[in-house]
Amino acid sequence: MKRVNGHEILTLFEQWSPKRFAENWDPIGLHIGQLNRPIEKVLITLDVNEAVVDEAIEKGAKLIIAHHPPIFSPLKHIWTDTPQGRLIEKCIKHDISVYAAHTNLDVAPGGVNDLLASRLGLADIGVMEPTISDPLYKLAVFCPVEQADELRRVLARSGAGAIGDYEGCSFTSTGTGRFTPSAGADPFIGEVGKLEEVIEERIEVVLPGPLRSKVLKAMLAAHPYEEPAYDFFILDQRTEEFGLGRVGKLPEAMELKEFAQFVKKVLDVPAVRIVGDASKSVRKVAVLGGSGSKYIRAAKRKGADVFVTGDMDFHSAQDAELMDLAIVDPGHHVEKVMIEGVARYMEQACLKKGYDVSFIESQIDTEPFRFV
Ligand SMILES: [Zn+2]
Repeated sequence: MKRVNGHEILTLFEQWSPKRFAENWDPIGLHIGQLNRPIEKVLITLDVNEAVVDEAIEKGAKLIIAHHPPIFSPLKHIWTDTPQGRLIEKCIKHDISVYAAHTNLDVAPGGVNDLLASRLGLADIGVMEPTISDPLYKLAVFCPVEQADELRRVLARSGAGAIGDYEGCSFTSTGTGRFTPSAGADPFIGEVGKLEEVIEERIEVVLPGPLRSKVLKAMLAAHPYEEPAYDFFILDQRTEEFGLGRVGKLPEAMELKEFAQFVKKVLDVPAVRIVGDASKSVRKVAVLGGSGSKYIRAAKRKGADVFVTGDMDFHSAQDAELMDLAIVDPGHHVEKVMIEGVARYMEQACLKKGYDVSFIESQIDTEPFRFV
């Protein structure tokens, strides 16, 4: 097993929940500390408060991955006799680093919203409100016939040519390449000052925008020519969409009051608030962890009968009622599903890589609301 530092752990995490998935107002990433020290244990939590930092100290976790960013607004000072200042001081004194994955973890496939949708037993799950879709590129590269197979392999290994469930897709056509090496050149084929004709293959592969620099680097390293000829094209076609919230179907329709009880049970909350006729039949469900008041129209547009989300405010509840969209509000704290979800995902990812690190689920209840 390999000893790892915070960078190595979070590089794996960001392959799942990349920073580009976050909303632009969201202060995600490393908040406190640094990532160069070795890490043996990581504590996963919804929120960071002093009790959570004490738990990290007690359990020997030098890295905390939290959903809610502990420093939301820029600080003008760190006064260590205030709760927030004391928390930062405690982390630094104990070499504990804190990293936040917020809306990027909401958007990530398998992240907060997919975890909630799966707790609710939804099928045919889709994104409720698309927020990001990567541009799609095509790379066309010209290469001598003898080296073309190796280049195709390198391109496939770097992730180019993935289309749906197919990997390493490419198209090749053959033609004649012409070039004259000039003084100073060190040609793989031909001589300085002499026009050369070479039978070459044009290899075409598609790739998503975020892979562009990785694929280009791999292609340049593997290509036999000193100055490879290649083109990148931006494609005007639909790519995979990522976004906030999920919409899916219950296996069977149920009455709203029955569904509300079910939500209470599977999301492990003491109470829910509902909007709508308690005997309304619901089957298509929209779900968004955290505060979903802003998204009632998105849920309605997707044809949801009921929207499960937290922090529903009075006027949005009235609007939902008018548009015949039922609401089940189990509170914001249902996002606690991320604790187990992130721990399980990262355990598997680190196991595959042979990383010697364990993930601990925080036992501190950070729900501020009590029900009486
Ligand atoms: Zn939240």
